[in-house]
Amino acid sequence: SKWVYSFGAGHNEGRADMRDLLGGKGANLAEMASIGLPVPPGFTITTEVCTAFYENARRYPDELRGQVADALSRVETAVGLRFGDRAKPLLVSVRSGARVSMPGMMDTVLNLGLNDDTVQGLAAASNDERFAWDSYRRFIQMYGSVVLGVDHHRFEEIIETTKHDAGVTEDTALTAADWQRVVAGYKDMVAQETGKPFPEAPEDQLWGAIGAVFGSWMNPRANTYRRLHDIPASWGTAVNVQAMVFGNMGNDCATGVCFTRDPSTGENIFYGEYLVNAQGEDVVAGIRTPQPLSAARAKPDEKPMETVLPNAYDELMRVRETLERHYRDMQDIEFTVQQNKLYMLQTRNGKRTAAASLRIAVEMANEGLIDREEAVKRVNPSALDQLLHPTLDPKAKRTLLSKGLPASPGAASGTIVFNADEAELRAGKGEAVVLVRIETSPEDIHGMHAARGIVTTRGGMTSHAAVVARGMGRPCVAGAGGITVDYGAQTLTAGGHVLRAGETITLDGATGEVFVGSVAMIEPKLSGDFATLMEWADEFRRMKVRTNAETPLDAETARKFGAEGIGLCRTEHMFFDPARIGAVRQMIMAADERGRRVALEKLLPFQREDFTDLFRIMAGLPVTVRLLDPPLHEFLPHADAELEEVAQALGADIEAMRRRAAELAEANPMLGHRGCRLGISYPEIYEMQARAIFEGALAVAKETGAAPVPEIMIPLVGTRRELEITRAQVDKVAREVFAAAGTTLEYLVGTMIELPRAALVADRIAEVADFFSFGTNDLTQTVFGLSRDDAGKFLPHYVESGILPKDPFVSIDVDGVGAMVRIAVEGGRKTKHDLKLGICGEHGGDPSSIAFCEQVGLDYVSCSPYRVPVARLAAAQAAL
Ligand code: PEP
Ligand code: MG
Repeated sequence: SKWVYSFGAGHNEGRADMRDLLGGKGANLAEMASIGLPVPPGFTITTEVCTAFYENARRYPDELRGQVADALSRVETAVGLRFGDRAKPLLVSVRSGARVSMPGMMDTVLNLGLNDDTVQGLAAASNDERFAWDSYRRFIQMYGSVVLGVDHHRFEEIIETTKHDAGVTEDTALTAADWQRVVAGYKDMVAQETGKPFPEAPEDQLWGAIGAVFGSWMNPRANTYRRLHDIPASWGTAVNVQAMVFGNMGNDCATGVCFTRDPSTGENIFYGEYLVNAQGEDVVAGIRTPQPLSAARAKPDEKPMETVLPNAYDELMRVRETLERHYRDMQDIEFTVQQNKLYMLQTRNGKRTAAASLRIAVEMANEGLIDREEAVKRVNPSALDQLLHPTLDPKAKRTLLSKGLPASPGAASGTIVFNADEAELRAGKGEAVVLVRIETSPEDIHGMHAARGIVTTRGGMTSHAAVVARGMGRPCVAGAGGITVDYGAQTLTAGGHVLRAGETITLDGATGEVFVGSVAMIEPKLSGDFATLMEWADEFRRMKVRTNAETPLDAETARKFGAEGIGLCRTEHMFFDPARIGAVRQMIMAADERGRRVALEKLLPFQREDFTDLFRIMAGLPVTVRLLDPPLHEFLPHADAELEEVAQALGADIEAMRRRAAELAEANPMLGHRGCRLGISYPEIYEMQARAIFEGALAVAKETGAAPVPEIMIPLVGTRRELEITRAQVDKVAREVFAAAGTTLEYLVGTMIELPRAALVADRIAEVADFFSFGTNDLTQTVFGLSRDDAGKFLPHYVESGILPKDPFVSIDVDGVGAMVRIAVEGGRKTKHDLKLGICGEHGGDPSSIAFCEQVGLDYVSCSPYRVPVARLAAAQAAL
């Protein structure tokens, strides 16, 4: 079989699309050579050799030596030099190159082929003794450390001694004779360290370097990197052997790296740096200051390549054009100039910031380099989230306090406050505050809203704080277990810092980090490119994108981001408003149905107004309203002192109040008296909510002439009968309201699928449902038997150690929870082929979960307002 592929000098056996076999570097070298770019000739030993090597107890395939020899002699002929020749020696570089670039492996050995003989040839060819001996010592140093494993300090010591003996302080002051002494010293030292003389035969050097590349594929650093990035060990690495060109042979030589567009802004300018008379590693080493490429971008004291090496620069500009036209993407290139002639050493698709990726995609489509579909595919949806929020200035100094979960993106600074009322009070006076809580509950919403950012020390990615913060677009770090909060002392403690209320902290909700003091930030700028890409995405999308929202502000924000309706209005969030919580508590405390109805009567006008507002904002679009879901005790205060206050306000007996609170307490509230179970125990609650919805909808219909279509959603249904009973309550109210108004309105009644049983009997539930919406937060909780509110304590460990590939509350667990969704989709559609299906768990805003939703054929996804653009793009990509 074929183990070696040649490139350059008119013999190109590889192509860009062969990166699995040739690695990224090898495939692109072959591709560049075949489109006529100046690539020094060489060859690639395939990744299959790496695999075979490890399968055969580290032995190479038999034909390999012969194939390498043939390829090498082709290179020799092409450049007119011979490996090991004293007069005209060929020198090569040996580089690793996996499918994806992978830190941790052996990277590069340059100048391979030098020995005491060939160094003479190099000196003669370059007419520069010093250059030749310097190259030789660089080779021994590189080879010695990366192939033979000699500590690089041992090499430094010898240089230091030589400089000392020569009475100089700079490397540049060493002469050819000095470098010759360094070489001798290196060789003695290596022989001592390794017990073997430094290999003189170029053949031995080459096989040593090849062996080192393959060996490094399994070194601990590479293994760790692969594990963290899901790269299978079976991919293997390729080895590239290429004729050397020298950027350090004089002042008509140079080496550089560049991007075909600006990788941080995406601007269509040539962006990069170079060094005259230098070899690749000098640019990276940072000893000399690299200079800019283009004269237009140069400062007065800089020496741009355009003026210093004008011919090579012109050639590089042509290469830039050719590469972009050919690869149709921004390229990251490495080049060398040897005696005014340009050589290309590498090209690959360049890494870029979120903003740059957006701009490059849109501009390349406008330039006709790619089509719109391709532009839509190119932008990572998660990157958009970053663009909508302020971010920390990467250059700003910072002191890490602790790290939690990246629960809601964006950065925020503010003074620490430990409770919601205080947050609201201080924010009302214009102070920027960060709300720090052990965890949050619906009672804290006003404080969360008032705060610039939220930090909790407990809870996961679907904890209350995380969900609500995302909905509001507030940055949030959740479950920062390294922080200890003492409400009594009004302090937080972490990593040796003790901070009091009123001191400043900064959080980065995209990374989960919390910092001491304030850190400088960069405000987001939404460019026209953003709107353009969104429009293009909408052309390709099949699924609709709705939002999870209950306040007018959130609903408006979501519409601005392109939401096509509301997929989840959590009505309980409306109950905490100070104007209503009294009536809610009165309802909870009531001794009987009559008492509850009195309290509910007070709530009705508030709820009607809530829904009227939402229907108006979402005019002409569907609005899904979920009836009351959480257990009632969530609405009662927890502290005894507050309980007393509430009792007084309600004119209730404190003892009765305590008794009721004790009655409502549950050992396992998430599996307790909640969801439709409440509606079944207390039908009057759902009746009031249904009435408010229908009256609100009729009011908007009358006002605007466009009747909204309310979709009433019953939570936590597990049996057909539960939905049948609650649906009958809703239908009865509809008839009453319509009769009173003398008009009717189209509406739907459906359920959430958030319990395994509901998924399993979905065919029967569908008999009484107009739609299903997957509540994948609870479904994940119940399928895994994993508490949403407590998982933060151990789930990160599960993810870090690979027990779970991802946090299942963030990205849907396709195998388990996903299987449950599939069962419900099939069951539901078997009964009603056009059953409307959506998702409203947090997964509705997660790109890979959205891809899953497309696969199973959901009609829409619903997510928090700031995720709407992410979901629009992800839904388009899923459909392409
Ligand atoms: C869900 O469970 O997925 C859901 C959307 O409801 P909540 O998060 O309010 O429980
Ligand atoms: Mg739920």
